[in-house]
Amino acid sequence: MSIVVLGSTNIDIFTYLRRLPKPGETIHGDSYAITLGGKGANQAVAAARLGARVDLVGRTGADTFGALARESLASHGVRLGALHEDPANPTGIATISVDETAENCITVIGGANMAIGAEDVERLAPLEAEAKVLLLQLEVPLAASLSAAGRFRDAGGLAVLDPAPAPEHGFDAQVWKTVDAMTPNETETEALVGIRPSDTASAARAAAAMVERGLRIAIVKMGATGVYFRSPEGEGFVDAFPVKAIDTVAAGDCFNGGLAFALSRGDTLPDAVRFAAACGALATTRRGAAEAAPQLAEVEALLAGK
Ligand code: ADP
Repeated sequence: MSIVVLGSTNIDIFTYLRRLPKPGETIHGDSYAITLGGKGANQAVAAARLGARVDLVGRTGADTFGALARESLASHGVRLGALHEDPANPTGIATISVDETAENCITVIGGANMAIGAEDVERLAPLEAEAKVLLLQLEVPLAASLSAAGRFRDAGGLAVLDPAPAPEHGFDAQVWKTVDAMTPNETETEALVGIRPSDTASAARAAAAMVERGLRIAIVKMGATGVYFRSPEGEGFVDAFPVKAIDTVAAGDCFNGGLAFALSRGDTLPDAVRFAAACGALATTRRGAAEAAPQLAEVEALLAGK
């Protein structure tokens, strides 16, 4: 089970306060938390916690937040040899203010993540021989992700793009053909093909629209509703696992980490989607992003109906 993630590494700064401030206003909040974040880092941690060998290709700044991010990634078992320390840019951050109704306000500063380019894609080369799956998202420059996907597929691997956060202007024609699979949630699906998936029929229409654009494998994530998938071998729907969801942050990232884990060990697509749905479901039962990702034994227990 060898996986490469090319993507973002952030430090997330959460502030918890009764209500969100208005422009020009100063508010005293209740508490704060500083955690590892970024979709690249989250997906890498999710796969590593399941027991996969995971390399994260990306960038942090040469600063305190960069050191913190590295320490956290390493503590979850993510390999850092291809995570470049960029002397010219700061580590990416997100500041997230959450009020007592769970409404939030988020500012993301991409920093070093936005400097990811050809040099970083080169760092994939030594990893290509072993890795079976490459995970990509949209928090780093798209050109770098596409170029990574192209070379990874040439080396015989499978490139999975999570089109998150939703692209404002959809995708150019070539993007659909440059990756093997995409895993949009409801909002991202609507942004990409103009169909809001809410049940099996609408998800099937959305998946068909993606395949028509040249995509080989479409996986439509619909939260507590379930997952629809379509590939040249067939299509199907996987029900969401019934769990007591308390926090859906990073459920999608845990889904993708689980999908990569299962595909890299040779599961069929339907089995891998079911495994990933179990990972996403378990992630909703605890708070946080990376640290909410389940261990393999928990996923196996859920799959076995225990
Ligand atoms: P995202 O986090 O990208 O918005 P989703 O909300 O669709 O994506 O969650 C990803 C996956 O996690 C879902 O497809 C599903 O498998 C699982 N999941 C999310 N929310 C729930 C839930 N409330 N109950 C069970 N499974 C869930």
